[in-house]
This record gives sequence, C-alpha cells and structure tokens, in this order.
Amino acid sequence: MPNAYADSFQKLIDELKKMPGVGPKSAQRLAFYILSLPNAEVQSLIKSLIEVKEKMKYCGSCYNLTDVDPCKICSDSSRDPHALCVVADPKDLIAVERSGSFKGLYHVLGGLISPLDGMGPESLRIKELLGRLRNGVKEVILATNPTTEGEATSMYLSNLIKPLGVKITRIAYGLPVGADMDYADEVTLTKSFEGRREV
Ligand code: ZN
Repeated sequence: MPNAYADSFQKLIDELKKMPGVGPKSAQRLAFYILSLPNAEVQSLIKSLIEVKEKMKYCGSCYNLTDVDPCKICSDSSRDPHALCVVADPKDLIAVERSGSFKGLYHVLGGLISPLDGMGPESLRIKELLGRLRNGVKEVILATNPTTEGEATSMYLSNLIKPLGVKITRIAYGLPVGADMDYADEVTLTKSFEGRREV
C-alpha cells in the first residue's frame, strides 16, 4: 500500500507510535492535532519536552524522580521519617501518594528482582536502602506488586532487613495476584496499607 502521508507527517506519526499505549490510529489523531496547533503552542510543547529531560533527576535520598534534590517528599518535615515505604518505581510511589494512606518517606528500588530479565538484587538500590535504615527507621513497609517478581523482591528484602531489628511489613492486597499497584484505586490501596502484616 503506498504511503498517503507526506514524509514529514509520516515521521511525526512514527515518533508518536513509539509511545506506550499509542497505536497507529491514535498516533495519526495526535499528529493531526499537533499540526492544527498554533506555532506558539507547538513551541511550548517542545520546550516542556526538553525541560523535563534537562531538569528531572533522581532524588539523592529516596531515588524518586524530582526536579529539586532532595525531593519535595524527603524535605517535608511533617512526614514521619521513621517509616519507610519501599516501592519498585516512581509510578508506584505516585499510586501510594494518591491514595493518601502513607505519611512517611519512600525508597524507590528502581525495579524488581527478575532473573529472567537479568535483574538481580545488585541492579536495585538495596545498598542505599540499608544505608538509610541506620537513621532511626522503625518500620519498613514493602509495597511491591503481588507478582512473582514483587514477591521475590519482598522476600529477599525481608530476609536482609529482619536481622537488623527493624520491623518489616508487607502491604496486603485486595487485588488479585499478578495485579499492578499502579492500577489500584485509592480505596484498595488504603485498605492494603491498613491490612499490612509483619513478615
Ligand atoms: Zn526524595
């Protein structure tokens, strides 16, 4: 089938198609939308894309994505520094924050243990987590997905942290096994925090 689009338009569609959840139809719709925008709005879109790449970095304490270091959560003195919630990635941190069920600090591992994908414990920020436990942390809450990788990571951390005398809990799930925290609604996540059990 011959390509009906001009080359530059096709190139835009191809770039948009690389984005998660964007199929050929959506990419085409977005491309037409971008084309219809006034120049100033396209410039502003380009600027925000460049800015996000330039400014976003990892918080030196919790490894959340941030544009200020330490991040807003780590520097919020109203939060409880004695409770540390361990999550796989910034997406999960956002999910917990949105539920409003946790008022302590976070530690973002940067993934989960997954031997099939070549992710061993050494690929995660576990050394950094252990370092933080020396600063008076009383409870570590493991908030990883109820998947094989999430359970394996949770088990690994629990074996590592328990001997240090820090209370370690795993959030309960009102979710089916294999579910993604990121898709859990606020009520479900709040319940899973309330129902967390010592491991
Ligand atoms: Zn932080």
